[in-house]
Amino acid sequence: MRDLKIPGERHPEKAHRPDNPQPKKPDWIRVRAPGGQGYAETRRIMRDNNLTTVCEEAGCPNVGECWSAGHATMMIMGEVCTRGCTFCNVATGRPDALDVFEPGRVADAVQKLGLNHVVITSVDRDDLDDGGAEHFAQTIRALRHRAPDTTIEILTPDFLKCGPEALETVVAAKPDVFNHNLETVPALYPSVRPGARYFHSLRLLQRVKEIDPSIFTKSGIMVGLGEGRSEVHQVMDDMRSANIDFLTIGQYLQPTPKHHAVDRFVTPDEFKSYEKAAWGKGFLMVSATPLTRSSYHAGEDFARLRDAREKSLARA
Ligand code: SF4
Repeated sequence: MRDLKIPGERHPEKAHRPDNPQPKKPDWIRVRAPGGQGYAETRRIMRDNNLTTVCEEAGCPNVGECWSAGHATMMIMGEVCTRGCTFCNVATGRPDALDVFEPGRVADAVQKLGLNHVVITSVDRDDLDDGGAEHFAQTIRALRHRAPDTTIEILTPDFLKCGPEALETVVAAKPDVFNHNLETVPALYPSVRPGARYFHSLRLLQRVKEIDPSIFTKSGIMVGLGEGRSEVHQVMDDMRSANIDFLTIGQYLQPTPKHHAVDRFVTPDEFKSYEKAAWGKGFLMVSATPLTRSSYHAGEDFARLRDAREKSLARA
């Protein structure tokens, strides 16, 4: 594989793509501008620990709000991905070797931030035999050691090119929530997520539950990429068939003109309708708003669910 990174050019691998003009965002997509003391402190801890965040790499619109509250989603295993998904702002190319000290630095940062709940994600590492499974497991173990009261959510790649032991390695480390995003409806995979397989991703989450039913599973999609309403409902049904517990649905925002075009902005009322349908299908947690992202308010959502479960156990 060629190393496509060129100094000074952030996303050279997307240079061959046609320009898709970025449409003006509607009024309902309003975000807090980054800044303030909390934001600066989160940024300092990330820099001091030499950590990469998906908040910055993906150009997440919620970074002002999340970082002000000390919530950053760390992205392990480098900042170069082996896949070329057309919605994603992370650079594609040949990644560096794994940094064996990274799990310790992640744990240190989480301890300093004093997080009740942390979300850890990664780039895709098709260049590694285990897809980075052992590195995920080491990160979870380091977090358990340094921040034992913090609940851990991982947002993983699909381990498509690995044997079954890769997933088993990650599950054996016992994250509290195992998240893997389906990202879009199956018909759009060839144009949005060309290196992935919809039913493989679904089966990955189903297997997590089969291996360890005590782990919550979570997945999400973006809307506004060109999907139909009935296709979104079918994805929800597929997710419930795979025993997925939590669902997130958010508006796709186009990072640059070289990325997949926004087909349309889904209205807040349509999001409410998706949310209502999802609760009806039996998800334990649903977040469906224009600004919903996998890790947006993930800690609050998880704490609410855990409280509800404890109350219901106490009543039983
Ligand atoms: S929603 Fe997630 S990715 Fe976006 S800023 Fe918040 S923590 Fe980071």
